[in-house]
Amino acid sequence: LGMVKSFKYMIVGGGVAAGYAAREFDRQGLKPEQLAIISKESVAPYERPTLSKGYLNPNPKAAARLPEFHVCVGSGGDRLLPDWYKEKGIQLILGTEIVKVNLALKTLVSAAGEIFKFQTLIIATGSTVIRLTDFKVEGADAKNIFYLRELEDADKLVESIKMKKYGKAVIIGGGYIGLEVAAAMRINDFDVTMVYPDPWCMPRLFTPAMAAFYESYYENKGIKIIKGTVSVGFNANANGEVKGVKLKDGRVLEADIVVVGVGARPLTALFKGQLEEDKGGIKTDGFFKTSMPGVYAVGDVATFPIKLYNETRRVEHVDHARKSAEHAVKAIKANETGEELEEYDYLPYFYSRIFELSWQFYGDNVGESLYFRDNNPLSPKPKFGSYWIKDGKVVGAFLEGGTPEENKAIAKVSRLNPPVGNLDQLKKEGLSFASKF
Ligand code: FAD
Repeated sequence: LGMVKSFKYMIVGGGVAAGYAAREFDRQGLKPEQLAIISKESVAPYERPTLSKGYLNPNPKAAARLPEFHVCVGSGGDRLLPDWYKEKGIQLILGTEIVKVNLALKTLVSAAGEIFKFQTLIIATGSTVIRLTDFKVEGADAKNIFYLRELEDADKLVESIKMKKYGKAVIIGGGYIGLEVAAAMRINDFDVTMVYPDPWCMPRLFTPAMAAFYESYYENKGIKIIKGTVSVGFNANANGEVKGVKLKDGRVLEADIVVVGVGARPLTALFKGQLEEDKGGIKTDGFFKTSMPGVYAVGDVATFPIKLYNETRRVEHVDHARKSAEHAVKAIKANETGEELEEYDYLPYFYSRIFELSWQFYGDNVGESLYFRDNNPLSPKPKFGSYWIKDGKVVGAFLEGGTPEENKAIAKVSRLNPPVGNLDQLKKEGLSFASKF
């Protein structure tokens, strides 16, 4: 039997949430050797969204590389470099996958058989990508078919981009990963085709009017878009490298690189049968406590009460990963000191950046949507947005090309839920409606 290592606090998973939790533990007061973070990845926590954006920049001087995007730069804070953890006496146990968990005995076991004991555990295992091999798609294990979740995946893609210069790329999936990677491949001078089954891109958020803007922007950049069909198989050459993507409608697209972005699923399997689940995630309360005392879950894996909408939800976005982690640590500390803490009160927020564009979304995209345009001809960039109106109130807002003040205004209006008298009037006012609050 290996040696048992014990820690007062342990975090399993070393992604975005783990990094922000570490900073919050330090702020709240932490003694050396009280906290350990165990991660399958071999690097300290970093801002994962960079992998589909700055990491794929073809300009070696401008490309984002570690250590520059370690947490917490994404929220304007200082970078937590590996030395920071060392100075604080926080154990970063990297390249270590936990394969077995016994929550009742408060133990974790790694693939190499090491045993860890904790008093308080934060589960921050995030998500894993859905693979075409999961559905046994023919030829889906060919070389140069990529997914993007961890640094290692991004490194493989970057290597292949160099090898297949000026080649053909097929991007499967029209969500934000598909859109961001398609843009990055085009910037890398690839001939890019996107394939997705939906009638328009990002159907979970975009309305047809919003999607039409991005699709025509992409077509102007030379990206081909094939909608309403899916890939059913892949051809490979004698070296096992992908050469073609077979579509359901019979067409075959030439490809040197394929990037698949068809969704993710939360990594909860380790805890099956030991914790209550809800909506595919680990069920928590408004303090990120799970059904097991002393065990918390944050980030992508947590299904938590979202006060604003009076229901439980799982949110797979970076802003929530950061904030839920901070809230859980505050709750752990409040539990120890007996201090009061408010329940988590989250306003959903997501964003994306592609080419010179960038959008932000706040709130809930339910009810009736209302597309508006910014009519200022002096705007240097395309600017438009959408409100969502439910029961006569604004519940969500989207803005492309907003300034920081304008983005703050749409966030505020999505939180305040002001009543809307007349929709035509709102359409006319557009962004200036939000700016009044
Ligand atoms: P993660 O950051 O995924 O971290 C989980 C960590 O746990 C990983 O290091 C993993 O290796 C480790 N782990 C898992 N299982 C084990 C185990 N058994 N043992 C040890 N370690 C384990 N969100 C946005 O809002 N905007 C964006 O623009 C955006 N862009 C994105 C781009 C990409 C390419 C990706 C992949 C995601 C993007 N996201 C974006 C989503 C965002 O990154 C996630 O919501 C966020 O990272 C979730 O944080 P987390 O800490 O819960 O999980």
